[in-house]
Amino acid sequence: MALLDLPLETDLYKPTSIVSKMTTFYRQQEAFESLTENQQVVFQNQSHGQRYYVVCTNREYWDKYLNQGDRYGYEVIRRDLPCHLYIDLDINKEAFPNIKVCDVWSKLESYVDMVFRELFSIPIHDLEKKIHYSSCPKKGSMHIIYNVKGKIFRSNAHCGAFMRGVRFYVESMKEEDMVMFDEKWVDMGIYTPNRLFRMLGCSKYGQDRFLENNNAYTYEEWVSNKVQPVHRGSNFIDVRELDGSEPKYRSYGGGITGWQPDCMKDILEQIEEEHAKVTRVHAFPLKSVFACNLNTKLCPFKGEPHSKNGLYANIKLNDYGYTVRCHSDKCRNRETMFYPFNDSVKQSVKMFLEQDVCLPAIVHGN
Ligand SMILES: [Zn+2]
Repeated sequence: MALLDLPLETDLYKPTSIVSKMTTFYRQQEAFESLTENQQVVFQNQSHGQRYYVVCTNREYWDKYLNQGDRYGYEVIRRDLPCHLYIDLDINKEAFPNIKVCDVWSKLESYVDMVFRELFSIPIHDLEKKIHYSSCPKKGSMHIIYNVKGKIFRSNAHCGAFMRGVRFYVESMKEEDMVMFDEKWVDMGIYTPNRLFRMLGCSKYGQDRFLENNNAYTYEEWVSNKVQPVHRGSNFIDVRELDGSEPKYRSYGGGITGWQPDCMKDILEQIEEEHAKVTRVHAFPLKSVFACNLNTKLCPFKGEPHSKNGLYANIKLNDYGYTVRCHSDKCRNRETMFYPFNDSVKQSVKMFLEQDVCLPAIVHGN
């Protein structure tokens, strides 16, 4: 029944000046299959509680929905297509009454800008940040969209890999700033295929909490604040995952950080005895490599502590040992001597490496 209430093509307020090829669908896949020209994009809209997809040009969507005050729209950030970097910050004010979302942003912003500058040689004046915010007593929210001058990300999987790089960078610079990621104020789960992202001027359905900036809400303003532009360019930012591989879509932003095999406990004990306590473990299972941040800044290469950078142990299971390395750029290619595992540690690593891989059985029926 509710379907009949939807604003389909026959809708009364359809502007007559447009020869519209606008079509609506209930299934995302059908919407994608109906795309006929490269000016068209896909939106998710909601009317009378029902969600549906709209395929049309940006101009058509603006005229028919946003400009008519129908502001419950999401951009579909389509998989494997170029897009700008987008970031979503959310703070539950009831759980964190003293944390302001704008303070979290200025902290994260300094790291994102630093990663652009130091790892991608993109200067700050090439970064244009589109900032949207919405707030209510329960929640502080911000969306940030980075437009990089003359460049674009190859897909939103690359945005995810970039942000995992930022997270790793924060960790190596200042462990205490990791609270942004640990408490999920920075949402790392948004870099998935065909991601829905609420647009400037829009609210969740049933709430009147619209994403705003300080500019007048015009077609030009809205369209220039989208994540996936129609004219995409092809000068891509060369992003890699932390292990050097091609960026991938992951179901959880947390990725594999934190995963540890059984033998890791013994290894970490040995590292703590010989160097310092391990604060965090990053796993690169395909290479049997683990990078473990150490609770020390005393750099063996510099001979004294760095003001910011910490050290990490680079564990190679297959080699039965590890080296210590430094997060500082100045020490990038340096490595200490190789520290072999103790005999007892060697035993448990050997057991881990030789054991059969065991996946949970799938239970059929009941
Ligand atoms: Zn160093």
